[in-house]
Amino acid sequence: MTRTPHSPGRPASLTDDFLQGLVARVPSTSGGTWKLTEVYTGEVLVELPQSTPADIEQAFARAREAQREWARWPLAKRLKVFRKAHTLLVDHARTTADLIQAESGKNRRMAIEETCDPPMVISHYLKRAPKLLAPKRRGGPVPLVSSSTEIRQPKGVVGIIAPWNFPFATGLSDAIPALMAGNGIVLKPDNKTALSPLYGISLLEQAGLPRGLFQVVCGEGPDVGPTLIDHANYVMFTGSTATGRVIGERAGRNLIGCCLELGGKNPMIVLEDADLDEVVQGALFGVFGNTGQICMHIERIYVAESRYDEFKALFVAAAEALRLGASYDFGPELGSLVSVEHRDRVASHVEDAVAKGATVVTGGRARPDLGPAFFEPTVLEGVTREMLAGSCETFGPVVALHRYRTVDEAVALANDTGYGLNASVWGRDLDRAVGVAQRIESGNVNVNDSLATAYASKGTPSGGVKQSGVGARHGDQGLLKYTDVQNLAVLKKQVMGARPGQDYDAYVRQMLVSLKLMRRTRIR
Ligand code: NAD
Repeated sequence: MTRTPHSPGRPASLTDDFLQGLVARVPSTSGGTWKLTEVYTGEVLVELPQSTPADIEQAFARAREAQREWARWPLAKRLKVFRKAHTLLVDHARTTADLIQAESGKNRRMAIEETCDPPMVISHYLKRAPKLLAPKRRGGPVPLVSSSTEIRQPKGVVGIIAPWNFPFATGLSDAIPALMAGNGIVLKPDNKTALSPLYGISLLEQAGLPRGLFQVVCGEGPDVGPTLIDHANYVMFTGSTATGRVIGERAGRNLIGCCLELGGKNPMIVLEDADLDEVVQGALFGVFGNTGQICMHIERIYVAESRYDEFKALFVAAAEALRLGASYDFGPELGSLVSVEHRDRVASHVEDAVAKGATVVTGGRARPDLGPAFFEPTVLEGVTREMLAGSCETFGPVVALHRYRTVDEAVALANDTGYGLNASVWGRDLDRAVGVAQRIESGNVNVNDSLATAYASKGTPSGGVKQSGVGARHGDQGLLKYTDVQNLAVLKKQVMGARPGQDYDAYVRQMLVSLKLMRRTRIR
C-alpha cells in the first residue's frame, strides 16, 4: 500500500486478518459498508459493515436470549468473568492502544490512559456490586408481622450509544456495571471508532462472557438510533447535547430510562495564590489533552488580574513547546483531531472569533504537513459570548484566556454558560479554593487539577448538570441505574383494618396511638 509522506507506519498488530476478524461480528444483511480510516494517513483500514433496522432487531433478539440465561447465573459466577477480563484487558493494553490510535488519531499517552478506564471500572464494581445487588430487607408498615425487601433486577437489554473521542472507554466502561447487574448489551459505537470496542468485547468473551450477550451494531446515528432505542430497556448515551436531546425525547416517548452524558464549555479559575507552575502543567493537559477532545476539557481560563501576565507568558510558552505529530510511540505530546470535518469545525470557531475581534495569541492553524486533521494548540484572547468559541463547545485544542478582578466576578463568568459538566479551581489555600469550587454550577469540579481526579474517582457519581446531561456514571447509581427495583412485601398475618366486631372509632384511636408509638420505637 502506498503511504503518505507523514505516515508513521502502522503497528504490526493491525494486520488485515485481525481487523477483518473484529468487524466480522457486526451484522449487515444489506452488505453495506463504511470505510474506516487510519486518521494519521486517511488510508482505509477496513470496510465496516453497516447494520439495517432488521439487523438491529436481530441483535436485540440474540442479546435478549443470552441475557435470560446470564441473569440466572449467581452473581459470584458473573463477577468471576470480570476478574479474568481485568487481567486480559491490562495484558492487551498495547494492542488496544494501537487500535485506538489508528481509528482516533490521538497520541500514545492518551490511548494508553484510555485503556486503563475499563479495568478501573471493573475493580471498583467488583468490590461494590455484591453489596449493591444484594436484596435489602426493609421494615414493613406493621412492625414484626410485615416486611418489605428491595430486590434489584436487571432491566433486560441496555442500548449504549458511544462517541468517537474515547471509543474504548465509553464502549466498554458503561457496559461493565450493566453486565454485572445481569443485563445484555447492544452497543452502537461511532463508525469512525468501532475497532477498539470490538476488540474489548472479544477480550470479555475470552474471559468467559457468554457469546451473544454483548452485541454491536454499526451505522450512522440517525439510521441506527431509532430502532436501537425502540428495542432497548434502557439507553446509555454519551455524545453531544444536540444528539442527547433527540435520544432523551425518544426514550421518554417509550417510557424507558436513559442516562445522557453530554458536552461542556468547561471553565478554569486561577486564584491569586495559585502555584503557577502547577497550574500551567494542569492547564496544558486540561486544554490540550486528547487534542482538546475530552468532554471535561478546559475551554475557558479565568486568571486573577494580578497573575494574568505571568500566567499567560508561562502557558503560551509551554503550549508552543508541545510536540505535535503522528506516531504510535510516546514522542508526540499532541495527536491529531479525529477527522478533517472536525478539524474544519474547530478552525471555524477560531475564524469566527477572529472575525468578531478576538486575538490569536498562538496557534490557530491547521497542520496538513503533519497529517490530514492536525490543528495547532491555540490560545485566544478577547473572546466574548457572541463568538462560537465563547458560547459553544469547540472540542479542540483551543482555549480562551480572561482576566478577572474579584472572585465573585470569576464565579459569575464561570457560571455564564448553559453547560455544567466540569470545572477546575486552582489555589494554595485549599479551604478557599474548595469554597469557590462549591459555587460553580457543574457536575464535576476539580480543585488543583483540571479533570482527571474527578473522572478517575469511580466511587462518586460523575455527570453533567444544566445542558450537560441527565444522570451519571460511576458511584452506586452508575450500576443501580441499570436495575429495576422489585418491592417484595410480605404480611405474615392480616392485621390491618378493624378487627371483626371492633367499632371504627376504636380502631382509628388505636391506629393513631400506634403511629405515635412507631415514631418512638427503633423498629422500622
Ligand atoms: P454526537 O452526538 O455527534 O455522536 C455521539 C454518538 O451518537 C455517535 O455514535 C453517533 O453516531 C450517535 N448519533 C448521532 N446522531 C444520532 C441519532 N439521531 N440517534 C442516535 N444516535 C446518534 O457526538 P460526537 O461528536 O461523536 O462526540 C463528541 C461529543 O460527545 C462532545 O459534545 C463531547 O463533549 C461529548 N462527550 C461527552 C462525554 C460525557 O461523559 N459527558 C464523554 C465523551 C464525549
